[in-house]
Parts: sequence; structure tokens; C-alpha cells
Amino acid sequence: MDYQALAERLLPGEYPPLQSYEEKYPPRDLPKGAEVTRLAPSPTGFIHLGNLFAAIANERIAHISGGILYLRIEDTDLKRKVEGAVEAVKNALRYFDIKFDEGAEIGGDDTYGPWYQRQRAEIYRAFVKHLIAEGRAYPCFCTEEELTALREEQTQKKEITGYYGKYAKCRNLSEEEIYRNLDAGKPFVIRLKSMGDPANKIRFHDEIKGDITVTENDQDVVILKSDGIPTYHFAHAIDDHFMRTTLVIRGEEWLASLPIHIELFDALGFRRPRYGHNCSLMKQDGETRRKLSKRKDPELSLEFYRKEGYFARAVKVYMLTLLNSNFEEWYLKNPEKPLEEFRFTAAKMSKSGTLFDLDKLNDISANELSRLSAEEMFDFLKTWAEEYGTDAQKGYFTDRGKMLGALTLCMGIGGKKRRKDFKTASQAMECLKYFFERPEGHDPFRAEREICAAVLGDFRAAYRREDDAQTWFSKIKEIAAKNGFAAEMKDYKADPAAYRGSVADVAEILRIATTGRANTPDLWTIQQILGEEETLRRTDSAITELSK
Ligand code: GLU
Repeated sequence: MDYQALAERLLPGEYPPLQSYEEKYPPRDLPKGAEVTRLAPSPTGFIHLGNLFAAIANERIAHISGGILYLRIEDTDLKRKVEGAVEAVKNALRYFDIKFDEGAEIGGDDTYGPWYQRQRAEIYRAFVKHLIAEGRAYPCFCTEEELTALREEQTQKKEITGYYGKYAKCRNLSEEEIYRNLDAGKPFVIRLKSMGDPANKIRFHDEIKGDITVTENDQDVVILKSDGIPTYHFAHAIDDHFMRTTLVIRGEEWLASLPIHIELFDALGFRRPRYGHNCSLMKQDGETRRKLSKRKDPELSLEFYRKEGYFARAVKVYMLTLLNSNFEEWYLKNPEKPLEEFRFTAAKMSKSGTLFDLDKLNDISANELSRLSAEEMFDFLKTWAEEYGTDAQKGYFTDRGKMLGALTLCMGIGGKKRRKDFKTASQAMECLKYFFERPEGHDPFRAEREICAAVLGDFRAAYRREDDAQTWFSKIKEIAAKNGFAAEMKDYKADPAAYRGSVADVAEILRIATTGRANTPDLWTIQQILGEEETLRRTDSAITELSK
């Protein structure tokens, strides 16, 4: 067969000599040991924890080694493409402070671009043409129906599905048959002519899993689709070579494709990057552990963390805890340090499934947030509210002094111990709600309605905003005594039957009337923040409600 002529017929026209690409994309001038890593998402619009997991690892390894992290968009599959997906990827990763040096819409050095695979069609075709000319690739004319029938036959016979060995019908077409098909205008794809044998096992060093054994590929995978666009497998091999990637950290779901990738790199005569396949994130579901699922687990999507208002550093801390076994210890010793100071290594990454636990993340988050100043918290919540908050929540920030007062109180700033009540922005905003919105419903009053109304009436008459905390409390004690509650806790404890309850119960009535909640930080301070008018108005509306 004249492969040269076939190549010309299938992909007619002049293509630059292959060597010219080597010159156009020369080896990078980086210090010894510098790693070039990448993130190569498909623009499907769904960016998930697994992507972030890989992004953090790739970013850390590149930058610790003095190398480069770039962003490549793998958009060869138009069916999966979603409008605005690249923006979504970038926003999600920016939130978690993943810094790219180059790539799609990054604005760094463009020597190794373009960064969208669809814009690189010429390079891929030049190499496909070369493989055809060498007899390493061939046209396949099988229709969708034929391929479906083949899959069904293989499934029935319990054989491996795919286009390989005796099933690779078009691999053995004669020259005459090929040209007849082409003359008839039949659409075709180009397949790799695999030289592999599944009886052969290859030893492979994975940067995370260590030495593993993989089975040689024998699938004649499609490398160029009928629309002249390559498949992901082929494009990624060309791109990782010419973008001079040295290390690929990606999810272990790609391990199954590794044999194909190994053969493609060999067929193209390229040196492979090193690969590290990181383990999937698992979730405890009753007795069993299963992979996080897009359908069942909202926390798989990165959008979830932004919507809920997770503090980005907390998510990163948790991801690093899961990614590197020695991170937790380092972090305990260095809670305030920039995370970049931790020496991240692929070798310390977990080899098998990692359990992802939202409760643990919530704890870390509460811890991280409890280190913020009121001003930092103000900025964090305001940024969140601007994007995700309700109109009412956006309004919480117009009176800066009031918000700072509420935060100082709720976070326990200046007190003996910092509170760790806030886990996420959305939950913190819910906690702060009563400062800014009059409570609609409220926790139940435990005392009888008339007693509650009487207590509130007395409070209304006695309240003066100028009273300091002590004066205020003496007045509450008086109100307690007047209404049959023990003014002193010890009196109540000594003889509980002699009273309706204690001063604590009186305080609870006032607390519920003011905030709607039975549990809050210090009530005197809350009333100071709300102001006299608002405090009294809330008291009045509770009295009205109790008298209904
Ligand atoms: N485009 C693939 C994805 O969507 C990337 C696979 C790889 O990293 O090689 O995840």
C-alpha cells in the first residue's frame, strides 16, 4: 500500500514539516528540576472537587519547583461544550487562589499557545497525516450502526468491547476498497493502528501510586474524528509534548486510558510526561463508602462552596489535609503561616480512596473564621453577599459600625475566648439576621403568656439605653423579683419550688422578644447595637403578640 499517497488523499495539502513544531515550541528554559504542570478541563460547565484536588497538587508542585502551571481547554468534544464554561472554571479556581502562569485567558507568555484545542487543529492534522504516511493510522468507514452492532455482539459474547484485533474491520481494507469508499464520498475517521498485545504487561512508575502494572493497549482508538477534529487522547499527547509538560497529576479515572496514552506517545516518537493519578474522593454513605456523585452530592461541585460561602482558605486547608499525609501536623504547628510555605510533594499523596467529610471541613472552616478580625470578616461576608446574598442581606453592610459591632460580639472578639459559631458566610449571615431584620417568628416562650407580657411591660418601662450593663442587670433582677422569679440564682437553687423560675428565665423572655431566639450572645450588647427605639419596638410587638 502506498501510505504516502493515502495520507495525501485523506489530508490533502501542505503541512509544515513536523520538525518546525519542535522549533516553534522549544523545550522551556527553566531551572533544573522545574516542573511544568497543567490543568486541562473540558468546558462542560461542571467543575468539581476532583478538579480542585488536582489543581492544588499541580499548582503546588509547579511553583515549589520553580516551574509553570498552565490552563488548557480541552474542547474537542463540541457536544459537551457549555457557554461561559471557561469563565466558570476560571472564577472557581480564582476563588481558591489557584494561580496560573499561562494559558487560556490567563494573559501570560503565549509561546506555547493557542490554549484551546480547537485552535490547534493544524498541528494535530499534521501529525495524523504523518502517522498515516507511516502506516500507523488508517481510515475507518464504519457507521454508528455498525459500531453499535459490534458493541452488542461483544457484550453478548462477554468480550472486551471496542475496535481491536479481529473486530477492527477497516484495519484490513485493501487499497482498492479504501479508495472505492473515498470515491463514494463515505465519511471516515482516522484510527491508530495499535501494535499492542494485551498479553503484555508494562511496568509503569506512577508518581503517586508508585510502581504499577498496566496492560498494553490493543484498541485502534479514533485519533481524528470525521469533522477533522482530534479526539481528546490524541490532542492531549500532542499538547503535553509541545507545551512541554513534565508532570501530569490527574484523577485516577484516567488510569484506564493510560495504556492508550503510552502507545500514542510511543507512536509519535515523543517522550512522555510523568503521570500521577490521584485517588478519588469518597463519601461515607451509611455502612459503605462510595465515590462522590454529581447527582447525589451537591458538595462535589465547586459552585457549592462559593454559594454557601466557604472560606477559600479553609477549603484549601482541608484539601491539603487530604492530599498530603504530613500537612495536618505542619498546619497544627503553623496555623497562621501562608499555605505556600508547606513543602508539598506528590510522593506524600494518598494512594487509595480518600474520605471526604463535610463535617470536618465545617470544623476547619469555623476554626479559620475564628481567626479573622471583625474587619476581615466584614469584607468576607460583604463580598459573599454581593454575589449570593438576598437584597436584605446586601443591606446589612450599609451601617458599617453596626455590622462591626454585631461581628465583634458574635465572634467573641475581645472576650476571654473567641467563639467558633461561624462556619460559612451563608450560615453566619443567618446568625446575624436579627440585628438587621425584625424577627418574624420566634422560639417559644416557656413561661405563661401573661407572665411574659408582664415581664416585657416592666422591661419596657425600665429600659434606658444609657444604663451600663450592671445597672441594666439590676433592673432585670428587680423585674424578676416583682414577677415571682428569684432575683439571685443561689436563692432559686436553694428552693426552686418557692419561685416561678430564676432571673435567667426572665432574661430568656427578653432575649426571645428582642431577637426571636432563646440563644444569643450578651443581650445588653445586642440591645446597645439595636438602639433604644428598635429594642422597644420589638418588645412592643412581642407584647402585642402575647395578648392576642
Ligand atoms: N480533559 C480531561 C478532563 O476533562 C483532562 C484529562 C487529563 O488531565 O489528561 O478531565
